[in-house]
Amino acid sequence: MSADSGLPDKLVDRFGRHVTYVRLSVTDRCDFRCVYCMSEDMTFLPRAQVLTLEEMATLGRAFTELGVTKLRITGGEPLVRNNVIWLFRELGRLPGLRELTLTTNGSQLERLAQPLRDAGVRRLNISLDSLDPERFRRITRVGDLHKVLRGIDAARDAGFERIKINTVAMRNRNDDEILDLVRYVLDRGMDISFIEEMPLGVIDDHDRAEVYMSSDEVADLIRARHELVETAEKTGGPSRYFRIPGSDTRVGFISPHSHNFCDSCNRVRVTTEGQLLLCLGQEHSMNLKQVLRSHPGDMDRLKRAIVAAMDIKPRGHDFNLDAKPVIFRHMSVTGG
Ligand code: SAM
Ligand code: SF4
Repeated sequence: MSADSGLPDKLVDRFGRHVTYVRLSVTDRCDFRCVYCMSEDMTFLPRAQVLTLEEMATLGRAFTELGVTKLRITGGEPLVRNNVIWLFRELGRLPGLRELTLTTNGSQLERLAQPLRDAGVRRLNISLDSLDPERFRRITRVGDLHKVLRGIDAARDAGFERIKINTVAMRNRNDDEILDLVRYVLDRGMDISFIEEMPLGVIDDHDRAEVYMSSDEVADLIRARHELVETAEKTGGPSRYFRIPGSDTRVGFISPHSHNFCDSCNRVRVTTEGQLLLCLGQEHSMNLKQVLRSHPGDMDRLKRAIVAAMDIKPRGHDFNLDAKPVIFRHMSVTGG
């Protein structure tokens, strides 16, 4: 408890979970239309409804003053937001912040990898579901694989401490490339996490239950070629990590269906519209934009709203691929 304001210096929910990690979505827009994330024809939010970069910087300050040590910038595609490097610089200067990270589709990294590194970003997550240009285009609907691979090379040259590839594993879509993707990261000293598809938003491309692959199936495919040694390592997120002996590479699995990670959840999310979401798979939320806009400059009030929200963080999510629709928000709005 800090003496002057009566505000706590850490965020703890009703179940005793300590919230130290915030994922901030800086835009719902994107230059890709990945089949599991968006429909082909998306309507994006009007600008006035989206938080300004200054408002996002204020939120970053409030959260770190409440004991948050890790901020991940996500979206949509964060790097298509105008002037987003300004926000990274502001956040990179916050005392108390131990880690500033980014999840990106890699399309803008050729241009922005170095400015991001210079702003204080040390680790990057880059999404990549296929190494085949045509298939990559089919999954992202519009993406150019070569541009993304050049972006990954630019990130390697810029000297990030760790680069992790994120791959959504999909049966009959990219399961035959899982070993190639592992080889790709092994050759470059990078990490990789395989993600189970989550039922966020209504999509028109495929039946999510049909393409669903459990992390255990993916791990079995990898074990056909590589030894996977489980580690106790955590990077503050929901991944479970394995090492491939003789390499620097870690293979992670994000398994919202098959290995529920809610008990150790230390995260909350802020949407592009300033809605504080207490759980990815539930609707419990608190409108921080309203606090920011009706009481500009009132840091104390903003922090009180965040502290109060801890009381409505639910125990966990309840994803079920067969009971549709589940959560209507797309991942791009929520912030992946
Ligand atoms: N545009 C950036 C990107 O693609 O990395 C950041 C936002 S994206 C929503 C963040 C991550 O969420 C990506 O790795 C993406 O593959 C993943 N994702 C999107 N929709 C998903 C879904 N329905 N289930 C599981 N992962 C999803
Ligand atoms: Fe865009 Fe990322 Fe969603 Fe793909 S996963 S559509 S790149 S926000």
